[in-house]
Amino acid sequence: MQTMPEVDVLIVGGGLVGASLARALAGSPLRIALAEAVPPADPGQPSFDDRSTALAPTSRRLFQALGRWSEIAPEAAPIRGIHVSDQGRFGVTRLRASDEGLETLGHVAPNRVLGRALAAGLETQANLHLYAPARVTEVEQSDAGVRVGLDGDAVPERIHARLVIAADGSRSRLRKRLGLALTERDYGQSGIVANVAPARDHGGWAYERFTREGPLAVLPQTGGRCALVWTMNTERADAVMALDDDACLAQLQQAFGYRLGAFVRLGRRQAYPLQLLRMPRRVAGRVLFVGNAARTLHPVAGQGFNLALRDVAELAERLHAVACAGGDPGAAGVLHDYERARQADEGRVVALTDGLVRLFSNANPFLALGRNLGLLAMDLLPTLRREFAHQAMGRRARLPRLSRGLPLQMMVDDGTS
Ligand SMILES: Cc1cc2nc3c(=O)[nH]c(=O)nc-3n(C[C@H](O)[C@H](O)[C@H](O)COP(=O)(O)OP(=O)(O)OC[C@H]3O[C@@H](n4cnc5c(N)ncnc54)[C@H](O)[C@@H]3O)c2cc1C
Repeated sequence: MQTMPEVDVLIVGGGLVGASLARALAGSPLRIALAEAVPPADPGQPSFDDRSTALAPTSRRLFQALGRWSEIAPEAAPIRGIHVSDQGRFGVTRLRASDEGLETLGHVAPNRVLGRALAAGLETQANLHLYAPARVTEVEQSDAGVRVGLDGDAVPERIHARLVIAADGSRSRLRKRLGLALTERDYGQSGIVANVAPARDHGGWAYERFTREGPLAVLPQTGGRCALVWTMNTERADAVMALDDDACLAQLQQAFGYRLGAFVRLGRRQAYPLQLLRMPRRVAGRVLFVGNAARTLHPVAGQGFNLALRDVAELAERLHAVACAGGDPGAAGVLHDYERARQADEGRVVALTDGLVRLFSNANPFLALGRNLGLLAMDLLPTLRREFAHQAMGRRARLPRLSRGLPLQMMVDDGTS
């Protein structure tokens, strides 16, 4: 009979969030396993796909601390300014990095590049065993640990872990198996994602345009290209997906205008259904939920992954400290303290994201006037604009070490913890 591997921490799902956590725990004494259904180099890996992600400075610093940024940087475009407008109305606001005394407000990197950088060397990480392809099918808890069933080639049938971290995405199998509560808001919208080439230089500007159909983001990329996230109601998105490239570009141009001149090329389009999913509690016994499994946000403010990386940084710091002290990483006190520590940042980001979607998706003329005055006020009042920029850059949270660009290992003796 096959023996059952025993680990301290099993991470289920090696997408952007699970792989980041696995890398963040590289220097800890914990024995870790990572089970991922689709191997990182597979072109069909669903997390490392054709989307691009706007990374806040806290995320760049985390990748720097993990030694991953040098691989990402050549394909990450700096954001030098953000231009926010409301289609057909007068309000416009501009946030400039230079106004904040910064070189950039963030960076935009393709998910494939992020995935490649996170996965490079993962299989040789000393404290980690990577099982891929391995799909988690079952989960059974006891006081001492969790037994998890795996399905895949050449993988054990079961693994025993003191702590299971579920990073298995919005449709989390573990969440369903454990029958855990979830609050859901279906926005009835889809986000169409594609690369576009504008005639004019984007100059590092990111554009967020609120149209009658939903928010439209055009983000700078390297090589003069832009990444498009075009949100609209799902029926309309199906129709736009069915158009040929020329007809689609014409509609895009109409919605976005000519700030970047004419769009001359459109890459492959993909549509994502958009919703707000939130687990009221992230902890169930010795299973903890992170990333999209715990909370899925509308991409309007580009916050989902950035927030999840601050979760990862806090969690890695706490688990590392527990492991160094010889403690139990799955102990209720450890998990609940972590959950409490992350509540305020999460609450702020969910409120910002959901509030923006609701405010700008509403055709009510009083709300429309209010939001235009809001945008104008933001342009005129530096304090208000700065507040918004700080929130979007993740600066309002108490930051864990990795989000400040500091390694975990020196926590005890470098006096900066
Ligand atoms: C259109 C769009 C644009 C976005 N733009 C931004 C942005 O600009 N900035 C930002 O911060 N965020 C952005 N986000 C959010 C960001 O993409 C998510 O926060 C991020 O992808 C979440 O990653 P994850 O690893 O939690 O989940 P996923 O990416 O869903 O990964 C889950 C992983 O788990 C694996 N898995 C699933 N089930 C199992 C199983 N049973 N066993 C083993 N493995 C399993 C899957 O194969 C996958 O690899 C955007 C989202 C969308 C939809």
